[in-house]
Formats: sequence, structure tokens, C-alpha cells
Amino acid sequence: MLKRTSIITGGNRGIGRAIAEGFARDGFDIGIIARDSDEISNTVNDLTEKYPDSKIKGYICDICNKEQVEAVFNEIKKEFKQIDVLINNAGANSRKKISSYSIEDWHLEIETNLTGTFNCSMAAYQHMKEQSIGHIVNFSSIKGKEATSSVGYGASKSGIIGLTKSLAKQFIKQNIYVNCIAPGFINTGMTKLLSSDELNEYLKMIPIGRVGELEEIYSVIRFLTSKDSSYIVGSTIDVNGGYLMD
Ligand code: NDP
Repeated sequence: MLKRTSIITGGNRGIGRAIAEGFARDGFDIGIIARDSDEISNTVNDLTEKYPDSKIKGYICDICNKEQVEAVFNEIKKEFKQIDVLINNAGANSRKKISSYSIEDWHLEIETNLTGTFNCSMAAYQHMKEQSIGHIVNFSSIKGKEATSSVGYGASKSGIIGLTKSLAKQFIKQNIYVNCIAPGFINTGMTKLLSSDELNEYLKMIPIGRVGELEEIYSVIRFLTSKDSSYIVGSTIDVNGGYLMD
């Protein structure tokens, strides 16, 4: 029997790497998409050593580039024979305030977060519809639901919630589930960029009193890509310790 295959964009580090590890531990074959070849090799080698029963391959690809994305998804399909899960985790945040914010920052955030999610979802759809089964999980953020200084980051993460609904409504006809998660502050590189004063200010606003752990993201992803979530379509799940409650 073929193993299930999961593609994780930005799976070379941070939250994406933890998701890749979670899927490898759960017996999936894994395709990791990112641009930094050294980080991809390190992650692929580490995970292959830990989970020798899973086939784990890295693919250098800029998700903003439609042609590169289509070529890589075709290559992955050829290698793994099927694409069961796509996790659109890759993201960019300029972390600029409006006084120094440029059109380049806007393009980086919109193209990576929103266009990249669209490109990968459409490429996965071409293969998943032939199988009549698939799961796609997109990444929004608390910053897609509240005001934030990096305006393109906020707009793109809001846009991902809308994109999730539109794709979900159409893809579910082919039994392809599209959902989204909106993490709060998670213990990764992005949060390490905050000063300790900034972090303490944020902690005061999180009812649970701590940042989230990587495993707490993977456990939601695992649920959203399993039969246990078979009636959840086009939803965005908050994973934020109570910071925002819709
Ligand atoms: P990181 O900044 O640590 O990692 C971003 C990942 O995206 C890297 O693997 C990077 O790889 C990849 N990436 C960026 N641009 C591209 C591109 N053009 N093509 C392909 N891959 C790309 O992010 P985190 O792990 O912190 O966050 C992961 C996701 O979770 C993001 O979508 C983020 O917005 C979201 N999020 C994170 C939160 C947190 O607290 N960390 C909170 C809320 C949401 P490379 O540079 O090699 O291409």
C-alpha cells in the first residue's frame, strides 16, 4: 500500500520543520519546499536519520513563481505517485512600521503569503482532483484578524482566510478539504525577533500566559488532515491561547 504523502512549504525550519517532523513520525512520506538549499538538506538529513521508514525529499522552489511551483509539484507527483496533503506554511513578514514601509515590503508579503498559497493550492489541486481526495491547510495568523504594523502581512493573512473559503467551496466537490489555521505567538524564529520587553507585553495579553509550542500547531494540522475533521470545510481554526476569540 502507498504511504500518504504530505508537502510542506517552508518545511526547512520553524513551524514548517516541526510539521514535517510530525508527519514523518506519523508515517507519511514528505516533500519539503523552500529556497535555502543548505537548510533543506540539513532538515532532510536529520529527519531521514530519525525516521528511516519515511521517504523525505527536499525541493528548491520559490512559491511566488507559478512555473517553478508547477514543475516541482509535477516532480513530487512523479516521485511519490500521489499528493495527499499540502500544508501552505511558508510565509514572510517584513516587520516594518508604516514610516519605513515600502512597495517592496508590500510585494514580498502579498506575493509570498497570498500568491504563494494560491500557486501551491492550484498546483496541488491539479493532482488531488485526479485522486478525488486531498487535504490542504493554509496559514493565516492572529495578524490576519487584528490590525498590525506590517500592513501587507496583515492584508495577506486576512486574504488567506477568504482564499481558504473560496477554494474550499469549489475543491470539496472533488473531496478535497481546504481549511486554515490562525496561530498566535508560537515558540519559533519569528517570535525570537521580539525584544524581551515586547514579548512580556504580549504575554500579558495571552490568557493562557505563555506562547504556543510547535507540537500544539502540529496537533491541529494532524486533526485537519484526518478523517476526524470530515465535516470541517473552509474553516479557520484559532490556535492562540485565547489571545483573540471570535
Ligand atoms: P519562518 O520565518 O521561521 O519560516 C518561513 C518559512 O517560509 C521558511 O522555511 C522559508 O524558507 C519559507 N519561505 C519564505 N518565502 C518563501 C518562498 N518565496 N518560497 C518558498 N519558501 C519560502 O516562519 P515561522 O515558522 O515562524 O512561521 C510559519 C508560518 O506560520 C508563516 O506562514 C507565518 O506567517 C505563520 N505564523 C507564525 C507565527 C509565529 O509565532 N511564528 C504566528 C502566526 C503565524 P526559505 O527562506 O528557505 O525559502
